[in-house]
Amino acid sequence: MRSLSIFLTLTLALLIPAVGCGGGTSGGENPPPPPSPPPSASPDVRADYLVNQMTLDEKIHMVHGGAALDWWNHRLPRGAGGWISGIPRLNIPDLYFADGSAGLSQGVGEATALPSSIASAASWDLDLAYRYGQVIGAETSAYGINVNLGGNVNMTGREPRDGRTFETKGEDPILAGKITAAHINAIQAQYVVGGIKHYALNDQETGRTTANILLDDRGARESDLLAFEIGVKDSNVQSVMCSYNLLNNEHACENSYLLTTVLKEDWGFPGFVMSDWDATHSTVNAAVSGMDQEQPENIYFDANLKQAVQNGQVPQSRLDNMVHRILRAMFAAGLFDHPATVHPIDAEGDAAVAQEAEEQGAVLLKNNGLLPLDAGSVSSIAVIGSHADIGVLSGGGSAQVMPVGGPALTEGYPCPPCWSQVIWDPSSPLNAIRAKATGAVVQYNDGTDAAAAATFAATADVAIVFVSQWESEGMDVPSLHFTDVIHSPPIDQDALVSAVAAANPHTIVVMENGGPKTLPWIGNVSAVLEAWFPGQRGGEGIATILFGDVNPSGKLPMTFPLSEGDLPRPTIAWPPDNTTPFWIDYTIDGHNVGYKWYDSQGILPLFPFGYGLSYTTFAITNPQLTTNISGSSPNFQVNFDIQNTGTRSGAEVVQIYLQLPTSTSEAKRLVGWYKISSAASEQMNVSIFVDASDSSHPFSYWDVDAHGWVIAPGTYTVYLGNSSRNLTTVGTFEMP
Ligand code: BGC
Repeated sequence: MRSLSIFLTLTLALLIPAVGCGGGTSGGENPPPPPSPPPSASPDVRADYLVNQMTLDEKIHMVHGGAALDWWNHRLPRGAGGWISGIPRLNIPDLYFADGSAGLSQGVGEATALPSSIASAASWDLDLAYRYGQVIGAETSAYGINVNLGGNVNMTGREPRDGRTFETKGEDPILAGKITAAHINAIQAQYVVGGIKHYALNDQETGRTTANILLDDRGARESDLLAFEIGVKDSNVQSVMCSYNLLNNEHACENSYLLTTVLKEDWGFPGFVMSDWDATHSTVNAAVSGMDQEQPENIYFDANLKQAVQNGQVPQSRLDNMVHRILRAMFAAGLFDHPATVHPIDAEGDAAVAQEAEEQGAVLLKNNGLLPLDAGSVSSIAVIGSHADIGVLSGGGSAQVMPVGGPALTEGYPCPPCWSQVIWDPSSPLNAIRAKATGAVVQYNDGTDAAAAATFAATADVAIVFVSQWESEGMDVPSLHFTDVIHSPPIDQDALVSAVAAANPHTIVVMENGGPKTLPWIGNVSAVLEAWFPGQRGGEGIATILFGDVNPSGKLPMTFPLSEGDLPRPTIAWPPDNTTPFWIDYTIDGHNVGYKWYDSQGILPLFPFGYGLSYTTFAITNPQLTTNISGSSPNFQVNFDIQNTGTRSGAEVVQIYLQLPTSTSEAKRLVGWYKISSAASEQMNVSIFVDASDSSHPFSYWDVDAHGWVIAPGTYTVYLGNSSRNLTTVGTFEMP
C-alpha cells in the first residue's frame, strides 16, 4: 500500500520576501548618487535607491501607459497591449504588457493555445496548473514581453452566463485562488511580472463599466475577495488590475476600501495596482485611493497628476510610493537581473502540456457504459457538428490566443461588439478519432441541418455530436442553452443533439464551451464529455479520453444548474444606458456563491460542484479524523484508505468540506482536496491536512465588527467525498 499525504497550503516556488513599502524623496537636486545596492539587496532597497535618483517627470513617466489615446488603432512595440518605455539613464527597462490567460494573447504572435483556464481549474491539479503557467510565462518571455495580464479570478459563479467564464477558475474561492496562484508562481518564475484581475466583483460583462455591485463586507471577503486574497498571498503576485465596475457606488479603480484597506493594508500587497484598460476615472481620487498606474495611456496620471503633486493634492510621498511599488515589482520578478531575450517558443513541448491539461481537465458528465469506445470493435462512427473536421473552438476577447500554425478557421462575429473574431484552433477531432479507430469508417457531417445529421447518424455504430458555445469578453452568453451567436440563421444545437439521439441510441455529446450549461437532452444521450475550450491539442485530448487511453478525472469547478430560474439572479442585470451606473444586487447570494447558494437554498443542481465521472471506480474506507484545536493555529487531518476497484488506472479527486457552527449561517465549504492517481486494484492510505492558518481561512468567517477572520465557538463537521453533493461525515469537533 502506498502512503500519501497533502497539506492544503501548497506553496510553490516563492519568489519574493514580503516586506513593507518605503518611499523616496522627490527628484530635483542631484547630489552624487550613493553606490547602487547589489542584486542581493531586497527589491524594496533597490527600488528606493532608484526612486531617490528620479526626477518628478521620470516618476510620472512610470505611472501611466505609453499608448496613444486611440490605442486600439496603434500597434505598440512587440505587439504588446500596453507599454511604458524605460529610463536608460537609470537602466530601467521598458515594460511590455500582454494578456495571457490560456496562452499568450494574439496581438503578440502565435503561441500555444492551452485549454481555457477553467479547464485548468477542472483538473484540480496544482502541479499541472504550475506547468500550465510555465507555458504562458516561457512563451511570454520568449516574445520579450515582461508583464502578464492574466490571472482572471473573478467569481463567475455569481453569473455563469458571464462571457469570460472560460478565463476564470470557477465558483469556489479556494480552488480558484490556489489554481490562479499556481499559474502566477510559474509565470513569475520565468522573470515575468504576474498579474491578478479584475479586482473586484467584475462578474458579468453586460454593462461592465457601469455595473454597480451591491455587497456587504462579509459577503465580499468570503467570496470574490477571498479568491483574490489566496491568489495574492500564495503567489506573491506583483501586479493587480482594478476592474471597470463600481462596488457600492465607487469605481473599483478609485475605491479605497478595495485598493488600500483590503489589498494593501489587510493583505500587505507590496506590488502595484494598474487600471484595467481605460478604467481610470480621476486623478486625485484614484491616486490617493491606491491606484498606482493608469493603463494603457495617460489621461489622468500624466500632466494632471504632476500638477496635483505640485499643488499638494496628491502627496509627494504617495507618488513615490506608486513608483516604488512598480520598481520593486520589476526587481522582485527579475526584470532587471534577467531581461527577456527574444527567442523561438518550444512549440512541441508546450503543445504536450496543452494536451495533458485538456486530458486532465475534461469532465465526463454522463456515461451509460458506452465509453470508452473500443477501437477494435467499433466499425462506423458519425462525427457531427462544430467544425469537428478541422478544429476546436476557443474563447474570444483579450484572452484570445493566436494558435501556433494559425487558426483552422476564422469566423466573423456581428458588430457590435466586435471584440474579436471567432477562432477555431487547428486540432481536428475527426482526424484524432480516425487515428484511434483505424479499422472503422469515420465520417463527418457539419450539423447545420438536424434532420440530415440524424439520417447520417442513423446507420453508424456510434454518433459523436460536437456542440459549442462561443464566448468572449465584452458580452455575456444569452442563456445557459447552447446558443449559436456566430451564424445567421443560428444553428439550433439542442435540436441537433435531440434529432441525432433519436436516430442513434449510441450518441455521445462533446461540449466545447466556457461554463455551465443546462442540457435539455441529457436523458436521451449515452455519454457527455465537457471538453471546455480545449486548446490546440484539444482534438487529440478528446480522442484519448473517448477511446480510454486517458481515464477522465476532471471535476466541475462550477455548478451546472437545472435551470436559469435556479440562479441567484435568474435574468442578467441590464444597464439602462451606457453611462448611468446600475445596481446589481450580490447580497442575494452574499457569501454563498455557487454550490453554497444551491446548498443553502435546497436547490438540486443538474451537476454539482466537484462532480465528474471516471472509467474506473474507487472505494474510500476507514476515514478518520484527527484534530489539534488547542494550539494557536487549529488544524485537523483526515486519513482514509482509497482503492481503485476497477480494471483501469485512474485518478480521483477526494474533497474535504467543512460545516461551520450554525451560528455562522455558513453553507459547508471546500477546505482541501487531493487528486490521487492509482493503478487498477491499487490501494493507498492518504492524509489530507487542513490548517486554520492557511490563506483560505478554512475555519473562519469574516466578522464585520472585529474587522477580521474569526473562529466561531461550536460544532464543526468534516465531510469527505468526490463532489459537493456526494459526501460522508468523517467526524465532528468542538471549538471552544
Ligand atoms: C480587459 C483586460 C485586459 C485588458 C488589456 C481589457 O479590456 O478587461 O482583461 O487585460 O483589456 O488587453
